Amino acid sequence: MADETIKRLEDLLAENDEAQMRKAERVAIVGAGTLGQGIAQTIAAAGLDVKVVEKNNEAKELSIKQLSESMDREIARWGMTSSEKKAILSRIYWHTSLDKLNKCDLIIEAVGENLELKKAIFEKLDKIAKPEAIFISTTSTLSLEEIASVTNRKCKFVGMHFLNPVPKVRLVEVVRTIDTAEETMEKIKNFAVSIGKTPVEVYEYPGFITTRVIVPLLNEAMHILLEGLATAHDIDLAMKLGYNLPIGPLELADSMGLDEVLAWMQELWKTLGEPRYRPCPLLRKLVRERKLGKKVGEGFFKYDKNGRIITEKK
Ligand code: NAD
Repeated sequence: MADETIKRLEDLLAENDEAQMRKAERVAIVGAGTLGQGIAQTIAAAGLDVKVVEKNNEAKELSIKQLSESMDREIARWGMTSSEKKAILSRIYWHTSLDKLNKCDLIIEAVGENLELKKAIFEKLDKIAKPEAIFISTTSTLSLEEIASVTNRKCKFVGMHFLNPVPKVRLVEVVRTIDTAEETMEKIKNFAVSIGKTPVEVYEYPGFITTRVIVPLLNEAMHILLEGLATAHDIDLAMKLGYNLPIGPLELADSMGLDEVLAWMQELWKTLGEPRYRPCPLLRKLVRERKLGKKVGEGFFKYDKNGRIITEKK
């Protein structure tokens, strides 16, 4: 087949892909790790199409596999049906290039907690995306103002701080910077409601509400473990039963990803200067050993393939 014909066919396929995307809200996510996968599932479950960009094919395939397995676990728990899973996956369009996002209205960045990486992505996106597109960062601790500074659309830049596991947690903190326009805030709060979330508005400040409050709690639980005062199991049990929490602090840290938790603590410690945010050495040790929590099967606890804690026999 002549090169021209192949090119035309490719264009037609791409147009078809675009035509299938809802015109009203073309939503995209950049980075499909723990958080990005959850956001993609949530948006697709709400009936919207969503584009997802991963850094390369290998990372893309891994994300697809992890998302599929996580929904299988939900099916096994009777929390979802196979047809719901199929419908969700059919609304997610996977890519490896930011160029595919030129027609999107909302672009949600969910790459790891790294300022330079986030800035580099938004700098590129600013050139690719249409001028009216709104940019959203999911950062937990980094300065939104600084990330937004690399774009020419500071008034269209906002934070959406989702919590893990995104499909289950109803809250999203909608974070405004000094430059965020009222119109942008309204659009994003409406978008949050349209995907089943309750938005809580907060001004940009390291850690916003939820990360700033939870991090010292996680850190303290880790110090209790480090000091040998109780076992990991008993620390979590005490907190769950004592305060009626659905999950203990150490398992919570494991589900968040210990590398992410460490990055948040370092950033909060650096920016707020409070010793309560200084990361517990035990956390540093686990991250050094790549025991990053549930996503790799081991952190403070060991996990089976369904994400359940494996209880060690005494
Ligand atoms: P993660 O490390 O699990 O995932 C990051 C993903 O981004 C990876 O899949 C990686 O391949 C991808 N990526 C890296 N560079 C990329 C690029 N150039 N283009 C496209 N994709 C790229 O991180 P996470 O835990 O999902 O965290 C993402 C963001 O969400 C962070 O800013 C974090 O602070 C925030 N957040 C995380 C949680 C949580 O519980 N994990 C909660 C709230 C907010």
